[in-house]
Amino acid sequence: MQIFDRYTDILQQIEQKGYPSQILGHTPDGSPLVCLRTGGEKTPAIFISAGSHSTEQAGVGAAMGLLDALDTEHQVYIIPTRDPMGMNGYAYALSLSLGEEPELNAIEDVEKILKARGEVLYEEGETVVAIIGEYGYSTVGIFGKFDIGADFLKPLFGRRIFFPSSAEGIEGTALCQRAYTLIVSPEGEVLHINRFHDTVWSPVEPRCTRNLMAEIQPGLTLDLHEYGGDGFWFSARHQRNENDEMWEKRMADAIIRAVADSGAKLAPEGYTPGSFFEIGERGVFWLIAQERGEGLNLADYGAHQYGPSFTIETGMTMQGGYQERVQTSILAAQTAISVFEERWR
Ligand SMILES: [Zn+2]
Repeated sequence: MQIFDRYTDILQQIEQKGYPSQILGHTPDGSPLVCLRTGGEKTPAIFISAGSHSTEQAGVGAAMGLLDALDTEHQVYIIPTRDPMGMNGYAYALSLSLGEEPELNAIEDVEKILKARGEVLYEEGETVVAIIGEYGYSTVGIFGKFDIGADFLKPLFGRRIFFPSSAEGIEGTALCQRAYTLIVSPEGEVLHINRFHDTVWSPVEPRCTRNLMAEIQPGLTLDLHEYGGDGFWFSARHQRNENDEMWEKRMADAIIRAVADSGAKLAPEGYTPGSFFEIGERGVFWLIAQERGEGLNLADYGAHQYGPSFTIETGMTMQGGYQERVQTSILAAQTAISVFEERWR
């Protein structure tokens, strides 16, 4: 699977391959939020999404790969990336306010631009947060760093803050190659695109996602992510009824078995992604959204409204690089789908 550098590369491939698609809405830069359709006509539908965190590009590659790899009678809807703006990178994000893409070779270049062209709202150590035009820009990740409603953030309430990808040696996510999009709620809580599924106020991306879900009523929701480690894990969700819970468990068992059998490394024994997860067997976690707070993410929302849902997490530093990350993500999704098909046979 190729690495998609820009969102237009994805749009081009969609056109070239002639995948049926629909535009769900447009992001603030005018990019179409595209949903692709594959599979057959059978319901319930399967919903697959990726790229809400633009630094997690193997999910995007996997979502595109699944278009060709899937062979199912069920309706399949795929949003290959939920953050087209962020996928286009930090220079692009800056261009929305500066009018042109600056050359960025180091985080210091970012800092210089924010100070020269923006109004600095916060500065401490290497962290600089500035507003330029409609958008906020940060030199580094600031998720979870500030108090909700912090005074200095007031100019950014209800707006976006971009920070650059900064890890070294991650295929698909080089320095500044992606802009991670943070969303500041009207109350001043710094969140991101994978929230706001159950809130009255919502940025356009999750609003489009939840509208689509209301239309297709997915019987299975898969959200493809990545994290900073070198193994694989995923999170399941407790279900509204016993039957869904049983199938969620069956799919969870099948996913971890298939990935372990493929030879991919699982997240190490003793690894915990956060305090709000119930720990299953190695690599399997159950996310308890009420304990985390911040409202519902896509998979939480899927479980809350529609049925079985999973968040797949490949490791950005997996030994086999981008190809292994993509293949592992595809394998996890395909395995969940084959159990799902068994359920509805
Ligand atoms: Zn993520």
